[in-house]
Amino acid sequence: MISTILADNAGPFTGPGTQSHVFGDEKSCVVIDPGPALEAHYQHIMEATQGRHIDAILLTHRHGDHAEMAPFLAERLGVPILAYPINPDQAWRAAPSRFHDQLAHHSIKQDDKISVGNFVLQVHHTPGHCFDHVAFEWCGEGKVFVGDTVMGWSSTAIIQPEGSMEEYRGSMRKLYRLHANLLIPTHGDPIKKPQERLEILMKHRQKRELEIFDMLDDKPQSLADLRLRIYPNLPENLYGGAETSIMSHLLDMKERELACLEESSAKRGAANQPDPNIWEIF
Ligand SMILES: [Zn+2]
Repeated sequence: MISTILADNAGPFTGPGTQSHVFGDEKSCVVIDPGPALEAHYQHIMEATQGRHIDAILLTHRHGDHAEMAPFLAERLGVPILAYPINPDQAWRAAPSRFHDQLAHHSIKQDDKISVGNFVLQVHHTPGHCFDHVAFEWCGEGKVFVGDTVMGWSSTAIIQPEGSMEEYRGSMRKLYRLHANLLIPTHGDPIKKPQERLEILMKHRQKRELEIFDMLDDKPQSLADLRLRIYPNLPENLYGGAETSIMSHLLDMKERELACLEESSAKRGAANQPDPNIWEIF
């Protein structure tokens, strides 16, 4: 049983807003991504629990629009927060302004099973959007809570260093191998044709990479120049997001010697052509 509760925080980065999920049977439940610390949202979540026992709060990752309410809710309810650990060797990647490092939590890892009443959720580590990201698969039902790894309204932001395009490709393949029948994102509508959506998203990134690669030459070009060529008619308030998206590709392409980066400009790297197999999802 899944209840979806939409928070009143729609915006350029959250789309229609954060969707918290209450998952469980008639006796017990968990709250997945409690979302922003808004009193009305808290009330709506509590209504959705319908007096059932709340076992825990589960976080797909620690971005504020997913996790902000978690410490308050945990304290009020006296329940643990389950999240992927920020290991010391990865801690440098956490953007301090966007992470809630102070969250006391119980660590979860790949393949952990979480019992919720009669149901079981399996943890899948899905870094890419950020390194502490996990998805929760409802075992035996083919439904997966995918957080921000796959979104219903837009492609996922990958902002380094907390995100990584290479990790994103690995996570997309991991989700593909689950052969789910429904992906439930935190932003946007559920995805009813998961395999098709995952293939489309990977092809979209591959196309964008090729487009950027074809634009690069021996003369450095600024990020703003590249943005203007790729997104010619963009409103000014979306410049930042577009340039971040191009940069996430350039940083990934640099690793494969497809691009050289100098401050905020880029030129062609030593490698001849992008390898299309890298985007193959099978
Ligand atoms: Zn996020």
